[in-house]
Amino acid sequence: ESVLAEDMGSRIMVFVRLRPLGKKEEESGARSCVRIDNKKDVYLTEYALEKDYLRLKRVRGRHFCFDASFPESTSQQEVYSTTTAELVEGVLQGRNGTVFCYGATGAGKTYTMLGTLDNPGVMVLAIKDLFSKIRQRSYDGNHSVLLSYLEVYNETVRDLLSPGRPLVLREDKQGIVAAGLTQYRAYSTDEVMQLLQQGNRNRTTEPTRMNETSSRSHAILQVVAQYQARDLDSVGTRVGKLSLIDLAGSERALATEQRTQRSIEGANINRSLLALSSCINALVEGKRHIPYRNSKLTQLLKDSLGGACNTVMVANISPSSLSFNETQNTLHWADRAKEM
Ligand code: ADP
Ligand code: MG
Repeated sequence: ESVLAEDMGSRIMVFVRLRPLGKKEEESGARSCVRIDNKKDVYLTEYALEKDYLRLKRVRGRHFCFDASFPESTSQQEVYSTTTAELVEGVLQGRNGTVFCYGATGAGKTYTMLGTLDNPGVMVLAIKDLFSKIRQRSYDGNHSVLLSYLEVYNETVRDLLSPGRPLVLREDKQGIVAAGLTQYRAYSTDEVMQLLQQGNRNRTTEPTRMNETSSRSHAILQVVAQYQARDLDSVGTRVGKLSLIDLAGSERALATEQRTQRSIEGANINRSLLALSSCINALVEGKRHIPYRNSKLTQLLKDSLGGACNTVMVANISPSSLSFNETQNTLHWADRAKEM
């Protein structure tokens, strides 16, 4: 079975993570409309206000099934182990991999990817694991870990580790590279959380809500593991890249006031997400041509999606009945991505 999977090349693993219902949501009358069973099955229930009664009536339900589905109580470590640990091993073998978090604003993407100081997410746990795996095998050569953290916002690429002018994408022998992008050589996990938190603060903020990260910004952490054999006669160098991506919010167009610049930005976000969807559809359908060129995001992912790469999608959802439509859209999208 695994041989077959390798032959087909680009199986996409699809996971769903449900976040807990927040206090404020509960206070505002929201109730949970999602249930997860057996760590696989997702049940979505639509409620409607019953006529003449101030109570909610169950209207209809839908069932989805994924490679794994994580209920509210799932730890960051378990999410990491199930979704990403295998990709980290692959990277040490020289195989590229990509993990991205998809979902509406507020569904838990940044929590899953970056996490908090007390509960670090996939980005930090992946780097920690990478260091520990390297330590175990450092006898057979030299390893180095290079980190880049960048943002795609409004079809503009920025360096989150060294904010400044937009970066230009160039195609060279190694593929598509962002010219001048900082490659930070990391030696320990401790420094990395600080670095990523700072990088995350450098993400573009909403013009109308200072300090809040824009829901239209994609953040991409690239972890490059290089291995150099000590014995010059043997293998030589091996390079693997892991891309960990906190995608822009997947919710639909913006409120109709605030047109102009904001709707342009909205259109561009749709362009990147749309392009990503098209690439994933093409991969899932086994097409030869994958339309990477259509957006900055997909250009950056050209060597990390499909082919011999491992691809993982984590669809983040909120349990709130007030987010029913967004949750349903996310689950449909995730359901399509897994077909193959
Ligand atoms: P997004 O990045 O998708 O917009 P966030 O990751 O910022 O969403 O999550 C929204 C809120 O919910 C944050 O306050 C976050 O701390 C909280 N949250 C999200 N996922 C979880 C989780 N699994 N456990 C606890 N709190 C969570
Ligand atoms: Mg976020």
